[in-house]
Amino acid sequence: MCEFCHQHGEGKKWYLNAKNYSEDLMSDLKRQAYVRDFLLYPEHKAAAVEKLKTVAALPAFVQAVLNPVLTSRVQKSHFGQVVPIEECGEIFESLPSIVRIACYCRHSTTSTEQRYCYCLSAAPNGGKMAQIIRDVDVSYLTGPDTSGLELLTPSQAMASFREHESEGLIHTVWTFVTPFIGAICNCDRTDCLAMRATVGSNFPLMFRSEYVAVVDNAACNGCRRCMQSCQFGALEYSAGMKKTRVDAARCYGCGICRARCEKQAISLLDRRSVPAAANLW
Ligand code: SF4
Ligand code: SF4
Repeated sequence: MCEFCHQHGEGKKWYLNAKNYSEDLMSDLKRQAYVRDFLLYPEHKAAAVEKLKTVAALPAFVQAVLNPVLTSRVQKSHFGQVVPIEECGEIFESLPSIVRIACYCRHSTTSTEQRYCYCLSAAPNGGKMAQIIRDVDVSYLTGPDTSGLELLTPSQAMASFREHESEGLIHTVWTFVTPFIGAICNCDRTDCLAMRATVGSNFPLMFRSEYVAVVDNAACNGCRRCMQSCQFGALEYSAGMKKTRVDAARCYGCGICRARCEKQAISLLDRRSVPAAANLW
């Protein structure tokens, strides 16, 4: 299990621990102020991610000193983890409200309104998180192209997530001053700020999932459809075998390749059971 599971999971995966969505955590005024600033100044986050490119260009020995300090700071404030779709469903079923808004990152990177982000709350109507969105001037999250905050049922959220998965987007949970989890988003390496940092600048702003993909050779017909969907370059094709295989050391366990495979040849294994990936986060 990842570091957050040990610190905030109470024996479960941390994102399945109801306490991490509680309104008690959102009552903290410092956390509320953090959320307000986060929403009001998306350009600050975009600039911080841009600066990580500079860090990635520094000599390796400087990065070895600097990166743990920066990572520790980010992990305390706004950090994510990849979560497969079935566990997104468990999260949705355990909460009273799911509110869809436009994606914060896509606003920054593409100046478009794309409704890929889902606020999660242990209170009705989106709780304090949605209240802050209503209170501050963040119209980029709520319009003008759509009708503001959309309250969804778990089954509506899951139907949308299946669509996002067919678009090749990976599901990620996000803290707003750890351990409070305020949202789950659907990311790609081009438009998502965190993916740009994690994949583009080699500076992880999210943990890998608790899983690793594996291909069943007997079922795989070598069609390579799955390879087009992996955002982490973790799938390889063997011309000799005419099969695809997963490089466990690169796999983030998102499960998107699994959704693409018409032969049901891909499954997710517990990361702890795969020695090459057990300690990679
Ligand atoms: S999509 Fe499925 S059958 Fe096709 S190469 Fe990938 S694992 Fe094999
Ligand atoms: S191999 Fe599959 S599960 Fe692993 S990162 Fe790529 S798409 Fe995700």
